[in-house]
Amino acid sequence: MADKQINKVCVIGAGTMGAGIAAQVANAGVPVLLLDIVPKDGDNRNAVAEGAVAKMLKTQPAPFMGKRAAKLVETGNIEDHLDKVAECDWVVEAIIERLDIKQDLYAKLEKVRKEGTAVSSNTSTIPLAQLTDGRSDAFKRDFLVTHFFNPPRYMRLIEIVAGPHSDAGTVDMVRDFVDRRLGKTPVDAEDSPGFIANRIGTFWLQQAVNAAVDQGLTVEEADEIGGRPMGVPKTGVFGLIDLVGLDLMPYLQQSLTSTLPKDDPYQKIARSEPVIEKLIKEGYTGRKGKGGFYRLNRVGDKKEKQAVDFKSGEFRAAARPGIVRGPAAKGDLKALISADGKVGDYAWAVLGPTLSYAASIVPEATATILGVDEAMRLGYNWKFGPFEMIDKIGAAHLRERLAADGIAVPAILEKVGDGTFYREQDGKRQYFGTDGEYHDVQRAEGVLLLSDIKRDSEPVLKNGSAALWDIGDGVLCLEFTGKMNALDNEVMKLIGKAVPLVQKEYKALVVYNEGSNFSAGANLGLALFALNIAAWSEVEKLVKGGQDAYKALKYAPFPVVGAPSGMALGGGCEILLHCDSVQAHAESYIGLVECGVGLIPGWGGCSEMLDRWRQNKRQPRGPMPAVSKVFEIISTATVAKSAAEAKELGFLRPADEVTMNRDRLLFDAKQKALAMVDGYTAPEKPEFNLPGPSGAAALQLAVDSFHKQGKATSHDVTVSKELAWILTGGDTDVTETVTEDQMLKLERAAFMRLTKDPKSQARVEHMLETGKPLRN
Ligand code: NAD
Repeated sequence: MADKQINKVCVIGAGTMGAGIAAQVANAGVPVLLLDIVPKDGDNRNAVAEGAVAKMLKTQPAPFMGKRAAKLVETGNIEDHLDKVAECDWVVEAIIERLDIKQDLYAKLEKVRKEGTAVSSNTSTIPLAQLTDGRSDAFKRDFLVTHFFNPPRYMRLIEIVAGPHSDAGTVDMVRDFVDRRLGKTPVDAEDSPGFIANRIGTFWLQQAVNAAVDQGLTVEEADEIGGRPMGVPKTGVFGLIDLVGLDLMPYLQQSLTSTLPKDDPYQKIARSEPVIEKLIKEGYTGRKGKGGFYRLNRVGDKKEKQAVDFKSGEFRAAARPGIVRGPAAKGDLKALISADGKVGDYAWAVLGPTLSYAASIVPEATATILGVDEAMRLGYNWKFGPFEMIDKIGAAHLRERLAADGIAVPAILEKVGDGTFYREQDGKRQYFGTDGEYHDVQRAEGVLLLSDIKRDSEPVLKNGSAALWDIGDGVLCLEFTGKMNALDNEVMKLIGKAVPLVQKEYKALVVYNEGSNFSAGANLGLALFALNIAAWSEVEKLVKGGQDAYKALKYAPFPVVGAPSGMALGGGCEILLHCDSVQAHAESYIGLVECGVGLIPGWGGCSEMLDRWRQNKRQPRGPMPAVSKVFEIISTATVAKSAAEAKELGFLRPADEVTMNRDRLLFDAKQKALAMVDGYTAPEKPEFNLPGPSGAAALQLAVDSFHKQGKATSHDVTVSKELAWILTGGDTDVTETVTEDQMLKLERAAFMRLTKDPKSQARVEHMLETGKPLRN
């Protein structure tokens, strides 16, 4: 950890990037001062920064993780409030990309900042050396470049460029803060044009556009070949350009051609494309405009997806070419670039030069191949970095093909010979250095990855849907391994075995995995299969099995810590509700969504939520407020859009903690579990006093009124009636006590009634087929 700490941040420039960066600082719970210019018109001198915050509160996906974060942003302007910089430990400059204006601002900052306050620029294109020209030595010592990606909350990459005069302590302080507090992955880059990701990314986009036009492909063909099969987001290249904006292309091109040396390979491929010029001129700047290479157009009473024709510049109905087949479609890159006809020709024309270019910028743009791979994975959402892709193709094969095409073979690609850029040695992942030697991939202190543990050991137990791993110091990790980490009987069986095992031989259990989503809930496909053959006893077994497994976790005599990231829905949420404590990744999306598929939470979710809400001190007294709140949350299938929101909704407890950096989640969860071991006692079984049928009738009244207003469907009414019955305790009244077991019985009975309802079955089937809820 760095010696110096950042307790307050100032962001100057409240545009796309500055506002987003300020929001992410606030998301970390750190106060932030956001300044912009004084507008020419109007009386409000803070209008620009204030307007930026107001806009962000309406933006989706949301820059703020919760309402509280927005309150941490203080707004102002650079004329009246620059002296407040003296209160800050880090100033992020994110103003217009003009050297003279940035330099002018630094001259002013020099007068107001205290020594030791870091100043960094978010510049994409201006060399650090030029930015600090004319500044004092003290300023240069505290200056660096911190290049965030858009949108700053969601993009994990940040490129860090230190200058020859930068103080290591200041750089460490910022690096540590962006890593631990902002949850970003810092990658060290050299002060070279475009740094790493945009340098390779711009080359790649240009090459992909050139090749598609030259080879006479359609937009859709190019995106089908250049998207998923290459491990690139499914938008492909043209879909991506639509997303970031077509007008950015000429800008990036101009900035790189003017700053890169004349013999850089990018200079040869940079060219303007008549179709792009025409589209921009007509307002087709991408999704922010009327559309771009693709657009949605009304044809009759339907919306039609259309794509532009490269030659004529006219739009026509978009097609699904379906030309990539076999191993090439499934991530075999060698098969892809060797495929017959246009698939192989295009794939090679894009990948050959791009991978070669990426390899050529090490160590000029970044010291090791790790920086290149990390930058492209996190900055452009590539599934694999360029060197990982080269390993898939084979360095020797790539060299041969490059040589055959007369493309220069980069030094590091020669040096690796017949070897690979990554290898495993004694269970450790190693990378090939520019020195020709292999080095261990080092993890920072506080980073623990299950993927590393899995490389180096065998599971303690496993079956088709889950595994148990020894993560050291007496802690086991329960990992879901099924498709989308879906939960089924096998997962429950493994939990059943894990509990006695941990009790006997270990200290604690962490529930965690490294999928993009923690769990999307119960395996609906399996459930539907059972429903279709009316195997009711199987369905009931699944429900009871899940309840038993989750209760076994809850009442186990050792701490259980849940550690979600991404979606934790339905049964995935319910397992978290049963953990003693949760260490959540900030980007956790938790919710009980069962009602959306015509069901109710049947693995204890109803009673666990009720237990939490009745303990909420801000709720009015009596059983009904908690019942109504939980009813509202579950019946509307509300999903929290961050861990902070999950706390507000009661999916997380106030004492549950949040980890901003995904890579630090397992370590934090493990530490939390270990801290709970001494003196651990299992929770007591809750008992409820609930209103019974009169309460259910009150809830039903509200739903009936929604139905009359057309806000709830007839089946919503049926489902919420069952939910109301459970949450109000069934056939009871406030003077009676309802046990947890009775609550579970109510859940089971309601669940079974709903599964037999054809309308619920239709919802499940529709969800499986389309991924969307059916509003029947
Ligand atoms: P933007 O145009 O959205 O916002 C720039 C803001 O700076 C505006 O609000 C403007 O009023 C303000 N500004 C101009 N002069 C100022 C001054 N003297 N003092 C204070 N504020 C001033 O631009 P952006 O896209 O947010 O880019 C900001 C910086 O981030 C640039 O250096 C850009 O190269 C870099 N960057 C942009 C992206 C991106 O995707 N947009 C990504 C990474 C880096």
